[in-house]
Amino acid sequence: MTKVAIVTGGTRGIGEAISLALRDMGLTVAANYAGNDDKARDFTARTGIAAYKWNVGDYDACVDGVSRIEAALGPVAVLVNNAGITRDGTMKRMSRDMWDDVIDVNLGGCFNMAKAVWDGMNARKYGRIVNIGSINGQAGQYGQVNYAAAKSGIHGFTKALAQEGARAGITVNAIAPGYIDTDMVAAVPEDVLGKIVARIPVGRLGRAEEIARGVTFLCVEDAGFVTGSTLSINGGQHMY
Ligand code: NDP
Repeated sequence: MTKVAIVTGGTRGIGEAISLALRDMGLTVAANYAGNDDKARDFTARTGIAAYKWNVGDYDACVDGVSRIEAALGPVAVLVNNAGITRDGTMKRMSRDMWDDVIDVNLGGCFNMAKAVWDGMNARKYGRIVNIGSINGQAGQYGQVNYAAAKSGIHGFTKALAQEGARAGITVNAIAPGYIDTDMVAAVPEDVLGKIVARIPVGRLGRAEEIARGVTFLCVEDAGFVTGSTLSINGGQHMY
């Protein structure tokens, strides 16, 4: 039986590239998304990968989503927590709702999804969990206290959960992408983006497939000794 992978936010952007790369590795992939039905339908039509709609910030919806996928496809062996949003603004302009939305989806979503697959992975003594953090969680970013805090939290969450999963054959790792050419970055004003690209030693934005390549590395069976790590894929922009 092929292994089953869930990719949250797996229907477009970096998540789409991850879904395709895991499918090409031979896994049966289920791609979650939040609400963009047209994109999800188009994704499934193009790729044949099933798409499942729920909000990863909603704990009960995550539990229900995982059980629907397990009933349809089988036990989940791989979880990629990729879904993420931005609600940018300086502290002066940032509302409590902007803070809560970003923490709930980006960080709460990782907890909700990991919790939903955790008992099964422990019982089967195997799991691969990859959490998508960000360079802005490592370095901070003006106008993003919510996003930087959530992504920084992901890196701590990863290291703590890795320790809990280690004896059960479950690896938990993070990837910290730099600036990648997706809809999320397309929303950054052109002049700001120009300044960002000027600071990337490789001299360009990253490609979604370059993040997916890191995910496939962390998800193969013989990556079992890699756990609690953060893989930075950022064109040399941040080297800590
Ligand atoms: P996109 O905005 O292009 O895609 C986001 C995906 O996440 C979509 O599939 C979207 O679904 C889904 N999603 C958003 N909110 C939720 C939710 N509440 N529940 C379930 N799914 C949700 O993002 P990117 O591909 O650019 O980013 C992917 C990840 O990589 C994010 O975690 C982001 O923070 C991180 N990242 C991105 C960087 C970049 O430069 N692009 C840099 C560093 C990190 P729908 O289509 O329905 O809206």
